[in-house]
Amino acid sequence: MSPFARFYPNLIITTLLASLPLLALAKNPWEAVEIPSSQPPTSIGNYTNGCLGGAEQMPLRGEGFQLVRTGRNRHYGNPYLVDFLKDFSRSVAEASLGRLQIGDMSMARGGPFTSGHRSHQMGLDADIWFSQDARAAKRPLTPWERDNISAIPLADERQHELITENWDPRVPKILRLASEDDRVARIFVHPTIKRKMCDIAGDDNEWLRKVRPWWGHNYHFHVRLDCPPDDASCTPQAPVRGNPCGKDLDWWFSNEFYAILNGTAPKRPKPAKPSEPPPMPARCEQVMSAPPSLIDK
Ligand SMILES: [Zn+2]
Repeated sequence: MSPFARFYPNLIITTLLASLPLLALAKNPWEAVEIPSSQPPTSIGNYTNGCLGGAEQMPLRGEGFQLVRTGRNRHYGNPYLVDFLKDFSRSVAEASLGRLQIGDMSMARGGPFTSGHRSHQMGLDADIWFSQDARAAKRPLTPWERDNISAIPLADERQHELITENWDPRVPKILRLASEDDRVARIFVHPTIKRKMCDIAGDDNEWLRKVRPWWGHNYHFHVRLDCPPDDASCTPQAPVRGNPCGKDLDWWFSNEFYAILNGTAPKRPKPAKPSEPPPMPARCEQVMSAPPSLIDK
């Protein structure tokens, strides 16, 4: 037994116990790695199966924005996303629309999450709260506040009704600023919020083309950028076509949709063999094994 072990047995046991959760996390190495790779910025793969080389960390606070849920260490993005978020927040501030609260972006090297997000894998997606905390407008939030204050829902997820007392007339103006930026590919919101904005917009609805109805998204909207120009390793999504407020919105209010939501839809026969998830792009191995970049932690 080493002299250290003789004198500090409890410390060693405590250290071993404390490292057990880390070992469990290592099942998903993308969640265990805490520092971006020292590589040129690259978004590799696609939004739901990819990774991120040379990520940049979003600053805690700046003109028109404040980060929330920083304890998760998910505020990394392609510098293309960081630049967009700074520009977008500045236009929100200049239009006197408040201070955005930015939640999850990507992990330090992107990649898949064990639970929660399907996308956010290559540093081009960000979640932003609909609600704004009054404290964040006046002073930096404390670390505790950043991880514990709550977002406010604008819609009831199950009933598909707007929560009228929570509705904020700044929301369509903020979303329009994002949607009219050429870098933005899609914005996801709850179907009820999309319908409300279509009602307000009337014929002036071209900007709503990129605003897509999706499950959840009653507390936050999700902004997805197109692939950065000249990033050949990034696979883009097809642009959204059709009427910006057309019939595809109706499905989200149909009996078929509510049957799925309430678990009363007829069960589909299970495939004999569950399909394997697609392999990650080969270049993601290099992202995982690259040395860490020198960032201030
Ligand atoms: Zn999201």
